[in-house]
Amino acid sequence: MIFPGLLVSLALCSPFPGAAHTSGQDSVPTFSTQRLAEGVFVIRANEPPGLGGDPNALVVVGRAGTLVVDAQFSATSTSAVMVEVRKVASSPVRWLVNTHWHDDHVSGNGVWRQAYPSIEIFGHRHMLEDMPKAGAANRAGMLKSVPGTSAFLREREAAGTGIDGKPTDAVELRAYAAYRALIGRFAAESLLTVPVLPDRVVDDSLAIDLGGRRVMLRYFGPAHTRGDLVVEVPDAGVLAVGDIVSWPVPLIGTTSFPREYGLTLDRLLAVPHRQLVPGHGPVLASDEYPRQMRRMLGHIRTAVDSMRLAGDSLGQVQRTVRLDEYRRLFARDDRLLNTLFSNYVVQSAIPKAYADGASAAAAQRP
Ligand SMILES: [Zn+2]
Repeated sequence: MIFPGLLVSLALCSPFPGAAHTSGQDSVPTFSTQRLAEGVFVIRANEPPGLGGDPNALVVVGRAGTLVVDAQFSATSTSAVMVEVRKVASSPVRWLVNTHWHDDHVSGNGVWRQAYPSIEIFGHRHMLEDMPKAGAANRAGMLKSVPGTSAFLREREAAGTGIDGKPTDAVELRAYAAYRALIGRFAAESLLTVPVLPDRVVDDSLAIDLGGRRVMLRYFGPAHTRGDLVVEVPDAGVLAVGDIVSWPVPLIGTTSFPREYGLTLDRLLAVPHRQLVPGHGPVLASDEYPRQMRRMLGHIRTAVDSMRLAGDSLGQVQRTVRLDEYRRLFARDDRLLNTLFSNYVVQSAIPKAYADGASAAAAQRP
């Protein structure tokens, strides 16, 4: 869930840049396991939604081995998930799938490898290209910004105001404290989570035989990143989609592809499934939420493209395309959700859609 936009913007506007407060790493994250089908489980962090959080881990148990989808943001979180996995897995963990390169989904790769030295780690080809470049730069930037971001949030908590400087409620202030704990732990344990790249590359699709059941790794196109993998458990009707679908608000960040996202979502939702496991948030038994996302993504593309083609500047587009209808849908009158919607949709998706549209048009010019 954590990506550069929020952290960088928070760090830049921090009144105390460089102040060294990364407290909170003393709180230990806990997880709960939910059974989805025979031998299929999802492990979820026991944290209310906030500025960021550990991702869901899908666990698929076969006779020959167990497959896990996504590592966590810190070594502590990954180890806690590992304890949960061992409670339900009757076979050793042999396969780990990274849905995309964001640190909260890959930081724990090395912790898994240490526990299971022969584990195979899978990622999409684009993810393998991006993780050592954009991923490494993003990680370095995040680690550098943690003290400033923590100090900024701590100051907001003391003042009782939100990121926007306006008075806020206890729920949002608790989310700031939880986020400080999360990034504090990430920074404090960064030497235990030195990046480990996947060693198995996926292009369009790849089948893994778990012994008595098959899991499909599938690619549908650019969306949350340009290398998002989807994990299908056909015999259970389960699709784990990483942050392509994230709850309670979508995550269309500065490393997302808002113009292609909708079509990717269409292709993904066409795969038969009964349960959809988002990157963050509860398991979804209906497609209503991703279909709302789909409508919003279509609107963003149409509205931004038409203004850009008419010669409007990004500033004009940002003043006009406000997504108020979708803000009401996803964020209602909830203060925290409105902050998330501003940071993870409006402030990132619209400029990225504008820039991507401009570069696509430039590439087509003779
Ligand atoms: Zn992500």
